[in-house]
Amino acid sequence: MIIDQVGVVGGGLMGTGIARVCALAGADVVVCEADSGRAEAARVRTESSLRRAVSAGKITGADCAEALSRLRYTAILEELGDRELVIEAVVEDEPVKVELFAALDKTVSAPTAVLASNTSSIAITKLAAATTQPQRVVGLHFFNPVPALRLVELVPTLHTEASTIDRIERFASEDLQKIVIRSQDRAGFVVNALLTPYLLSAVRMLEAGFASAADIDQGMVEGCAHPLGPLSLADFVGLDILLAASNSMYEEFKDAQFAPPPLLLRMVESGLLGEKTGRGFFTYS
Ligand code: NAD
Repeated sequence: MIIDQVGVVGGGLMGTGIARVCALAGADVVVCEADSGRAEAARVRTESSLRRAVSAGKITGADCAEALSRLRYTAILEELGDRELVIEAVVEDEPVKVELFAALDKTVSAPTAVLASNTSSIAITKLAAATTQPQRVVGLHFFNPVPALRLVELVPTLHTEASTIDRIERFASEDLQKIVIRSQDRAGFVVNALLTPYLLSAVRMLEAGFASAADIDQGMVEGCAHPLGPLSLADFVGLDILLAASNSMYEEFKDAQFAPPPLLLRMVESGLLGEKTGRGFFTYS
């Protein structure tokens, strides 16, 4: 393998998915959570997702058993000290991530070790600036659900060493069998910078009374062969997440296409966040 000693910080939705694909690829993985209760919850989440994959016929029982034997869980950051690559997937909160990168800088000792972030909207450059070795910091942006979606965005900063970029690209494409695209360190990277204005346009269209929510979605599903219409996709992503993404891109580019429409603001203020709250542009039972 290109890299076989991986650390994952944050064992939530994305961190457990990343840990699962790394362990299935053959890497030894240590998942670090904020406390021991959350580390245990991350273990339960990862193990049940691997077992569901066996039941669904996606992986064999032997693959599952081997992956489980390669996964460890901790609440002690120092246990990541020997890792060749640490992938950060904690909450999308800049001060939390900055503090964590400063701590990882001191903890992860090998000079060739790489510190990567799965952030969707925080500049990788800001995280690199919290370290003494910004040349070893890179963005590695996975998509949800991590085991199913093959894309990874690789985001070097102006400081990232060419050897680090190449090594992480080979790790993602050869070890994890992901499709890698490179993006400059800009809010939204490639995919969200293109997707967000599209989703916001659908919200504006609904807000203007141009068409119903069902017809907007059906138009894109049946007319463009999209698997989900834009308003269903916004509900799936979470309207609070869509709002945060559009705010961060609007702040970066000062371009009206990223400005959140009032309807989106009112829905988030009303707690109508999409599938996770049972109601967004559509209702869910
Ligand atoms: P989540 O809330 O499910 O998980 C975050 C986890 O981080 C929690 O389990 C929390 O306990 C843990 N955590 C917080 N502070 C910590 C610390 N100091 N040390 C260790 N663990 C800590 O969030 P998520 O959806 O998995 O998102 C994680 C990251 O991935 C965010 O940066 C997000 O922007 C990014 N991302 C999310 C998606 C998505 O669709 N959810 C997609 C791509 C990228």
